[in-house]
Amino acid sequence: MNLLLLPGDGVGPEIAAATRRVLEVLAETCGVPIAIEERAIGFASLAEEGTTLPDAVLERIPQVDGTILGPVSHFDYPPREAGGINPSAALRTHFALYANIRPCRSRAGLGILRKPMDLVIVRENTEGFYSDRNMHAGSGEFMPDEDMALSIRKITAKGASRVARAAFALARTRRNKVTAVHKANVLTLSDGLFLREVRKVAAEFPDVELEEVIVDAAAALLIRSPDRFDVIVTTNMFGDILSDEASELCGSLGLGGSINAGDDICVAQAQHGSAPDIAGQGIANPTSLILSAAMLLDWLSSPAAAVLEAAVEDVLDTPATRTRDIGGTLGTAEFGEAVCSAIRRL
Ligand code: ATP
Ligand code: MG
Repeated sequence: MNLLLLPGDGVGPEIAAATRRVLEVLAETCGVPIAIEERAIGFASLAEEGTTLPDAVLERIPQVDGTILGPVSHFDYPPREAGGINPSAALRTHFALYANIRPCRSRAGLGILRKPMDLVIVRENTEGFYSDRNMHAGSGEFMPDEDMALSIRKITAKGASRVARAAFALARTRRNKVTAVHKANVLTLSDGLFLREVRKVAAEFPDVELEEVIVDAAAALLIRSPDRFDVIVTTNMFGDILSDEASELCGSLGLGGSINAGDDICVAQAQHGSAPDIAGQGIANPTSLILSAAMLLDWLSSPAAAVLEAAVEDVLDTPATRTRDIGGTLGTAEFGEAVCSAIRRL
């Protein structure tokens, strides 16, 4: 299979290198042909090609089997006219990658939460409060005068329906429960529409239980009783915030993998951002991107996915082979090597 690797900014190149190495060893050990092609995006391509998202990358994505996207520091990019495009947002909207699937699972001895958690947040990925995903890119926020700023939140029946269907289909492979997280008590029209569509989809899945929880209560319940959740489906920004909370409760943002899935294109991406505070030091935890790659392999129905996941679990189980964010001493590349050893051993 052909994979496209886009390292990105901040800790991106470091965790991408570790992920690449792991995939090469996985291919060799499992006898699965994986060809990895690397292209620059973000500040690296801005310097070379004058844009943070070259057209050649956009053209290549539908031609390969899957893409692995590193984090990007788009807040620091120049304006669009000067080549600054948020690659993450652009790929999600351009290829209609409407479901951002973010699993969070507790592991023995990791994280502050001494309670079991095994849930997946299915976050709507193409609309919501993100101004670059509104009708006219960038028009979702504006200032009528210099002392007032307004934001528009876009929710459509189509967007809500397709992400809900992804969540219910996923719940069927798990514990048959979907929790719709919303704020329809305040955002009556927009979250009202979201819930209307979720309920319609729920009727197509009578074997899956639907529960509805207000977002602030959901934030508290994640801490109080995380085991009540199986699949959470929610709008874009709520999903982003709750998944950071859930990953951190499980030990670190550096553990959170995800995929951005559409109907026939999938882009693997760590849950976290470019982590500028630790970039360039070789200490970022690459688990997030390695597990994202495993999710992509699973999406491609490759049996190598299970081998990779088992290898990561094995390494995380051993305190001596953990990275610093979760109390260990290993650097990014060393952790990658530990995963490679586990792949060969298992
Ligand atoms: P961005 O604007 O790109 O999202 P950010 O400043 O919000 O950047 P995040 O990447 O979201 O940074 O990270 C938030 C915190 O989690 C930071 O302290 C960062 O160091 C930590 N963190 C994120 N990813 C990792 C990782 N892979 N390994 C270790 N720590 C991480
Ligand atoms: Mg962030």
